[in-house]
Amino acid sequence: MIDERRRMVQELIDKGYIRSEPVRRAMEKVPRDEFVPEEEKHRAYMDMPLPIGEGQTISAPHMVAMIAEILDLREGMKVLEIGSGCGYNAAVIAEIIGKDGHLYTIERIRSLYERARRKLRELGYDNVTVIHGDGSQGWPEEAPYDRIYVTAAAPYVPEPLMEQLGLGGKLLIPVGSDKFYQELVLIERISDEDYRSENLGGVAFVPLIGKHGWKFH
Ligand code: SAM
Repeated sequence: MIDERRRMVQELIDKGYIRSEPVRRAMEKVPRDEFVPEEEKHRAYMDMPLPIGEGQTISAPHMVAMIAEILDLREGMKVLEIGSGCGYNAAVIAEIIGKDGHLYTIERIRSLYERARRKLRELGYDNVTVIHGDGSQGWPEEAPYDRIYVTAAAPYVPEPLMEQLGLGGKLLIPVGSDKFYQELVLIERISDEDYRSENLGGVAFVPLIGKHGWKFH
């Protein structure tokens, strides 16, 4: 599996998705095969989303690399992830922010939350806290955050997530009403009241469901 992982990482470097040493190191270290269901293990190092149960998916490795690069992470940062899924993306981010950093990750589906929590604990990620709940409202208990990223598509940018960003903090979120196409938006908090927003192009994510997300189930 380690050879397959190295091959996947080299492919992501060649295609320009991995651009920095911390992201390369993290993606080479985290065993994606440990996070996918048994029947998907043979495809764990293919650059594609895979089913993880409950109609949800683990994001494609190139998307995880893109998110990590765009977030411009540093060791020691406090980060909030909305949509833990199987916990793979969380593990990659946790590797980059290191032992002095902390990642809070929220998942709304209980069985996925339990599985992600168990797996991250088993692999020794003490710098990750997995929370069960509606992440469209953020997690005010630990705010402000240096970085917030959402791995599900929202109909609009949830106000609580903007409020929970620290000064100079960045929020990355897919926004849009189409099931198969949304825009990846990067928002930076430049002062108490001011935010700068940038559209980074088209993506396709599962819906964010909750108070500040979609209301259907
Ligand atoms: N980052 C994940 C991984 O590495 O497996 C992939 C996440 S998957 C594309 C999106 C996840 O967001 C799903 O597990 C879904 O249940 C979750 N989700 C959707 N709405 C949510 C909400 N309001 N709060 C928390 N999680 C939510």
